[in-house]
Amino acid sequence: MSTISRRSMLAGMGLALGGGLFARGAHGADKTVRRPNFVVIYCDDLGYGDLGCYGAEKIKTPRLDAMAGEGARFTDFYSCAAVCTPSRAGLLTARYPIRSGLNKVLFPGSTGGIEDSEITIAQALKALGYATGCIGKWHLGHLPPFLPTRHGFDYYFGLPYSNDMEVKARKDPPLPLMRNEEIVEQPANQDLLTKRYTEEAVRFIREHKDQPFFLYIPHSMPHVPLHVSDSFRGKSGGGLYGDVIEEIDWSVGQVLDAVKDCGIEENTLVIFSSDNGPWLAKGEHGGNAGPLRMGKGTTFEGGVREPGIFRWPGHIAAGRVEHAPAITLDLLPTFVALAGGTPPSDRSIDGQNIAPLLLGTGQPSSRDFFFYLLEDLQAMRSGPWKLKRPFKGSVYGKPEEHPVLLFNLENDPGEKNNVAEQHPDIVKQLEERMQAFEKGLGAVPETKK
Ligand code: MG
Repeated sequence: MSTISRRSMLAGMGLALGGGLFARGAHGADKTVRRPNFVVIYCDDLGYGDLGCYGAEKIKTPRLDAMAGEGARFTDFYSCAAVCTPSRAGLLTARYPIRSGLNKVLFPGSTGGIEDSEITIAQALKALGYATGCIGKWHLGHLPPFLPTRHGFDYYFGLPYSNDMEVKARKDPPLPLMRNEEIVEQPANQDLLTKRYTEEAVRFIREHKDQPFFLYIPHSMPHVPLHVSDSFRGKSGGGLYGDVIEEIDWSVGQVLDAVKDCGIEENTLVIFSSDNGPWLAKGEHGGNAGPLRMGKGTTFEGGVREPGIFRWPGHIAAGRVEHAPAITLDLLPTFVALAGGTPPSDRSIDGQNIAPLLLGTGQPSSRDFFFYLLEDLQAMRSGPWKLKRPFKGSVYGKPEEHPVLLFNLENDPGEKNNVAEQHPDIVKQLEERMQAFEKGLGAVPETKK
């Protein structure tokens, strides 16, 4: 799609400038009513239990702990999928990845990616006058039509897919590090990735401090193979994995310091989360889901529930621990609302605006969350209840089988007590909702490969 037709498409979807609700106050006087900046720091395969503020003991994360203390720490924050590509598709489009065909992991041999018809957060905010940058792992297609620069980002620096995707037997090329649409290093020096992403992020913030911006920082770490710079190697009490998390913690501190130094702290919402839970098959090189069951690649809580830290001084009350469930799908509607726009109205948007929840002006209306693993809808959450359909397959190369499971997550976040037999009415009700949701999807696009 050409730039012009995409622009008119966006204009046709109500992504018009928001009537002066937030005046563009680049010159000081209107600073408090400026459109907020948004920074999303998004890890790869980070476990729910890998940060100090979520219970980690061997890994020290003072900057993230402080960030949580200065903002809201969600106990029930979810990714919409349990693996990389689908999680990113959902976060950026506010739509379950099954709707965009991005419901499977893409590889260096893939020829598909995100379609022009999808509207990313970057596109939605760009239409509202934002500068946009993506620094880190993309993983929504590495061929030119699918790169961040073709989907709303003014600037891109990072790996186009996962850092383990240089398998010689598969004829993968050496890992490419890209700036915009050019490869600038191949193979990428992975030891320096976190450091370089950080430098790029800090520079982006400094260069755009006088205009509204959206900065998406999807770290390549702590996805295996783990890499860390010399400054952090061997320094943590949690082995190489701990070193990697402590470097990410440092990186978060650098981003927050840059925001502060630029005098835009009270105008910048910074969010920290991850795409899916820990890759438990990797042993000591995988993370820790804390009290949650299982990890990446499963729709147990350990696969989809993530740290969720929201910091916006002067707007989000400091030190809040928020138990209301929220999901990455909510980011696009929330950002667009805070920027004074309205989300696309010509398509199904699965997230909702959680600004009232963040700002303490109201609760989000109750809604259901649906958790996919690839093509299959496997589980849903409604209020405290989680229903998981019967499963027979393999997880981490081992056979796995379970019957229908029902958990009350409020008193059993570790999914230890299956209460399906005690509550057949709830099982029936949730299964009917899952079927209604599946039916409501209608025809879905072919899975991208
Ligand atoms: Mg991942």
